[in-house]
Amino acid sequence: MSLIKHFINGKIYESSSKRTSKVFNPATGEESSKVSLASKSDVDLAVQKAKEAFLNWSSKPPVIRARVLFKFKEIIEKNSDFLTKLIVSEHGKVYEDAKGSLTRGLEVVEFACGIPQLLKGEFTENVGTDVDSWSTRQPLGVCAGITPFNFPAMVPMWMFPLSIACGNTFILKPSEKDPSCSMKLAELFTEAGLPDGVFNVVNGDKEVVDALLTNKNVSAISFVGSTPIAKYIYETAAKNEKRVQSLGGAKNHCVVMPDCDIDQAVNGLIGAAYGSAGERCMAQSVAVAVGDVGDILVSKLAKKVEALKVGPGLDEKSEMGPLVTKEHLEKVKNYIDIGVKEGAKLVVDGRKVKLQGFEKGFYLGGCLFDQVKSNMRIYKEEIFGPVLSVVRVKDFESAVKLVDEHEFGNGTSIYTRDGDTGRNYANRIKVGMVGINIPIPVPMAFHSFGGWKRSLFGDQSMHGPEGVRFYTKLKTITSRWPSGLRSDPDFIMPTMK
Ligand code: NAD
Repeated sequence: MSLIKHFINGKIYESSSKRTSKVFNPATGEESSKVSLASKSDVDLAVQKAKEAFLNWSSKPPVIRARVLFKFKEIIEKNSDFLTKLIVSEHGKVYEDAKGSLTRGLEVVEFACGIPQLLKGEFTENVGTDVDSWSTRQPLGVCAGITPFNFPAMVPMWMFPLSIACGNTFILKPSEKDPSCSMKLAELFTEAGLPDGVFNVVNGDKEVVDALLTNKNVSAISFVGSTPIAKYIYETAAKNEKRVQSLGGAKNHCVVMPDCDIDQAVNGLIGAAYGSAGERCMAQSVAVAVGDVGDILVSKLAKKVEALKVGPGLDEKSEMGPLVTKEHLEKVKNYIDIGVKEGAKLVVDGRKVKLQGFEKGFYLGGCLFDQVKSNMRIYKEEIFGPVLSVVRVKDFESAVKLVDEHEFGNGTSIYTRDGDTGRNYANRIKVGMVGINIPIPVPMAFHSFGGWKRSLFGDQSMHGPEGVRFYTKLKTITSRWPSGLRSDPDFIMPTMK
C-alpha cells in the first residue's frame, strides 16, 4: 500500500510520525493508499524552511515571481488530465466536473500572473512642499492554508498561487481524504522554477492544524471547511495574533418566482443541487417555490432527479459520482431518515441506487424532498450531499425573509423574468454571492469569493482584489527631498503648508 508523504523544502519528506489515515477510491470503495499524518516537529520544520525561503523570495521583483507563475500555468495545463484523474480517484466526482474545478483553480494562477500590476500601489506628489507620499503593499511572511475535501485542487489554488505571487511563502495542509493533488501541484510548482521552501505541503489532521495556528512564525491563516471548524480556526488564529480568513459551510437557496422560465430554473437547479453529488459549498440545496409555482416545479424536478445517471467518475455516461467516504454517505443517508421522521415528503428516494460491479462504492442517488419547513433539521443544517429540499412560500417577501433568517449566507440565486424583482433581491439579500438566472454564482478569479453570516469568519474573501489585500500589508511612506532642506524641531501636529 503506497504512503502519501509530505513536501517540504522542495522535496518529498518522510515524517518519523507513524500515524496514518486511509485514503479511498470512492467509486470502488477500496482503500487506495495511506496518508502520513505529520507531527508538530514536522510542521515546525516546514515553517522554518518557509521562513528561510521568504527572505530571498520576497525580495525578487514581482515580474520575476510572475514568470514562475506563467510557467506553472503552462505545466498545469500539460498535466491537466493527470491532475483531473487524481481528483476523480480520491474525491469521486465525474471527470468533466473535476476538470472544470481544476480550470477554476488555474484561473487564479492566471490572475496571480498579473501581480506586478496588482502590487503597483499609489503615489501622491507634493503632499506638502517638496514632500511626496506613497503607499505600497508588502508580503506578510509565512502563510498557511487548510483546505476541505470537496475541491482538492481548486480550493488550495484559491490560496497558495496568489499568496506566493505576493511574495509570501506558503504551507498547505490539504484534506486528509484526498491529499494527492496538492502533492502533485507542489512538484509541478518546483518544476516551474519555484525556489525550495516557498511552497510546502504538510499532510495531517488536527495536530498539524494546531501546530500551524500556534507557531509564532506563521503570519496568516486561510481556511475553508465546515462552520464549527472555521469558527475554531478564526478564534484560535486571532488569539495567536495572526491574520485570518476562515470560510465555513452553507445552505444555498434558489428562489423560483412564478414568472420565471421554469425549464431554465429546473435545469439550473438539477446541475446546482446534484453536480458533484451536492458536495459543493455553492450547491443549491433549497429551492424556494414562490406562489403557485410549487406543483409544477416539484413534478419537473422529480422526473429529472429520477433520471440522474449515477456512476463512477471515470465513466463518461455518469452525471453524478459517489460521495467521498463511507462515513459521509452514512451521514447523508441519516439526514434522509431525519427528513422523513420530521414529516417532509420524500418525493425521490436515492437510497435505492445499486451499481453492478461497484457494489462497495459510496453511491447515493439524487433525493428530493417537498413540503420542507424552516424548523426542520434537514432545512437548518448543511447536508452536503445530493439532497434538494423544496420549501413553499406565499410571496417574494416571505422568500427574502426565509433566506435572510438562515444562519448561512454563502450563495443564492433567483429565477425570474422581472428585472425589478431580480435587482431588488440582489440588493437586499444578506448573502455574499448572488445569481440572477444563474444557478451557481461563483465569482471569477479576478473578483473575490466569500459568503456572509456564518459562512465566513474574518474580513476578507478569497482571491481577486480581496485576496491581494489579505496576503499583503499596507505601508505608507512620506519623504522630503532635497534632504538638504532643514527646519527647526516642531512640537505641534504636522500639517502641510
Ligand atoms: P472540515 O471542516 O471537516 O475539514 C476542513 C479542514 O479542516 C480539513 O483540512 C481537516 O483536516 C481540518 N479539520 C477537521 N477537523 C478539524 C479540527 N477539529 N481541528 C482542526 N482542523 C480540523 O470540512 P470538510 O468536510 O473537509 O469539507 C466540507 C465543508 O467545507 C462543508 O461544510 C463545506 O460547505 C465547506 N466548504 C466551504 C467553502 C466555502 O467557500 N465557504 C468551500 C468549500 C467547502
